[in-house]
Amino acid sequence: MRLAALELGLLRAPLRVPFRTALRTVEQVEDVVVQLIADDGRVGHGSAPATAAITGETHASIIAAIRDHIAPRLLGRTLDDLRACSTAVQGALAGNGSAKAAVEIALHDLWAQRHGAPLFRLLGGGPTELRTDLTISVNPPERMAADALDALARGFDALKLKVGGDAEADIARVRAIAAAVAGRARLRLDANQAWGAREAIRVVRALEDAGIALDLVEQPVPAHDLDGLAQVTAAVHTPVLADESAFGPREVLELLRRRAADIVNIKLMKAGGIVPALQIADLCAAHGVPCMLGCMLESTIGVTAAAHVAAARAATITRLDLDVPALCRHDPVVGATRFADARILLGDAPGLGIAAIDGLQPLPG
Ligand code: MG
Repeated sequence: MRLAALELGLLRAPLRVPFRTALRTVEQVEDVVVQLIADDGRVGHGSAPATAAITGETHASIIAAIRDHIAPRLLGRTLDDLRACSTAVQGALAGNGSAKAAVEIALHDLWAQRHGAPLFRLLGGGPTELRTDLTISVNPPERMAADALDALARGFDALKLKVGGDAEADIARVRAIAAAVAGRARLRLDANQAWGAREAIRVVRALEDAGIALDLVEQPVPAHDLDGLAQVTAAVHTPVLADESAFGPREVLELLRRRAADIVNIKLMKAGGIVPALQIADLCAAHGVPCMLGCMLESTIGVTAAAHVAAARAATITRLDLDVPALCRHDPVVGATRFADARILLGDAPGLGIAAIDGLQPLPG
């Protein structure tokens, strides 16, 4: 199988309600979609969102990285050696993890289709049913408590609460939600880099002293403050999850070496695709550190790829934050993987099993 062509498109999916974190507000998912076409006519799919505040990438940069740097190194190659193709993607240019991930996901989809098996089975096999948490946006406490109860009614048993505004207000928010949820769901806090180490320790200890058992607190301090992250990890009982501090295998190795976090949040868009994401999971496994598998606000194509990675490394990836399909008003991606609120059911179709994409707008070459 030879890689014959690469086409780009744009896909939009409106969210049920605007998604609000300490960093930004988003109203719709908007992805660059990659279609990698083989000489036998098969099509591999991948996608990437522009998450400029986190990865530094925009739609324009993703498109340029793929067109000018990645595609020329890939087209004409055979897919016999997936590793060599993936290495070509990684070596095409520095940075640009989301652009690389979009193409690398399409490569894996095509490779698994060629072998006639679902991707997760070829990556090592694993459970066919997974469970994700649901993110509750930053809002006034009573609104967040109501959203949490709504999530429980939809069957979610793990909730990720976006915090990271004023510390006192955050404590009030979490107390209100914990009281409303009353032990029926695990609670995760994501501060999205909003606190300093001292403030983070104060907030988490205040919640611990109030008898609130949190499943984890995510990225309490700025991404580059590894000293601060390590301080928080050492000072609180609640497990600390590194997200923006944990990009690719190199950054994760440094985190592990410094014991700066208890859990690592892997995202394909930060890691640069499936091969580096698997490397991170395997590095963490070797250090006895569990992982979460998360996603950006991105289309179901990328989320499906993430679910396959999670299934293939289920012993290490013990938590899933793959809730975008549950946050969208409708899903334009028709595929074998079913996203039914908290439940993710991996189908038996070859590759990622993507059958159709409604409303995909081709980008002129
Ligand atoms: Mg996060």
